[in-house]
Amino acid sequence: MTVRVVRASAADMDVVHAARVSTIGNDTLNELIQEALVGEVMTPAKIKLVNYLMRDRHGSPFEHNSFTFYVHAPIFVFRELMRHRMASYNEESGRYKELEPVFYVPGEDRNLIQKGKPGAYTFEPGTPDQADLVELEVKETTAAAYASYRKMLDAGIAREVARIVLPLNIYSSAYVTMNARALMNFLSLRTIREGSTFPSFPQREIELVAEQMERYWEQQMPVTVEAFNRNGRVAP
Ligand SMILES: Cc1cc2nc3c(=O)[nH]c(=O)nc-3n(C[C@H](O)[C@H](O)[C@H](O)COP(=O)(O)OP(=O)(O)OC[C@H]3O[C@@H](n4cnc5c(N)ncnc54)[C@H](O)[C@@H]3O)c2cc1C
Repeated sequence: MTVRVVRASAADMDVVHAARVSTIGNDTLNELIQEALVGEVMTPAKIKLVNYLMRDRHGSPFEHNSFTFYVHAPIFVFRELMRHRMASYNEESGRYKELEPVFYVPGEDRNLIQKGKPGAYTFEPGTPDQADLVELEVKETTAAAYASYRKMLDAGIAREVARIVLPLNIYSSAYVTMNARALMNFLSLRTIREGSTFPSFPQREIELVAEQMERYWEQQMPVTVEAFNRNGRVAP
């Protein structure tokens, strides 16, 4: 899974300013000017404010920022990603462009055996034979499907018709834009972390996407990330 930041406009201080407009109004602009002169400093009081907003689920101050990610992932991951409606998406088209033969094959470190019940699965490694079987079957069916796609295109069939034989493990790419509040909702559902108030059990491949997004978010908004973790990774 590849995630890159195309553009980010986000800082912990944005959360502080958005929250403080409710009590100091116009003076938030004076604070901005002051900070432009002397630099932004997240004082202990400001860090406390961010933590309070997170803890008491005052969510809207976390919306005044934006992350645009480029994501390259298999279609089965995008099916899950696009369930998150608080993001904006633009994806490459299988109607307007020929899809490239890039497919996801689970790596050796991908756990293969599911244990437990819906809502609380754990996954364990398979045997070497099971790993070989997965690799062989995925590669064979994928190659056959793409050959069929190619054959139809070569025979003059429209891309939008030929593509219907392609499997869910073919890669796609998209721009995904969201703010930190939406990102927290996404991360709370698509990552597994000790200390989460509401543990989730996401598919590993979307978690790989989520983990990369979270690393970018940490670089931009470390205080907000810290408050999110301290408060059980509950989206405010
Ligand atoms: C482990 C796991 C298993 C899942 N399994 C399934 C499954 O088997 N089948 C399936 O269909 N989906 C499944 N999902 C997807 C899940 O149901 C959600 O669609 C997905 O996680 C997006 O969450 P969301 O709605 O909170 O996100 P967003 O769409 O980003 O919405 C964010 C928040 O906005 C509010 N909101 C958004 N739209 C509405 C609305 N129309 N009405 C009211 N409030 C709204 C809600 O508060 C919501 O939490 C699964 C998700 C996870 C994490």
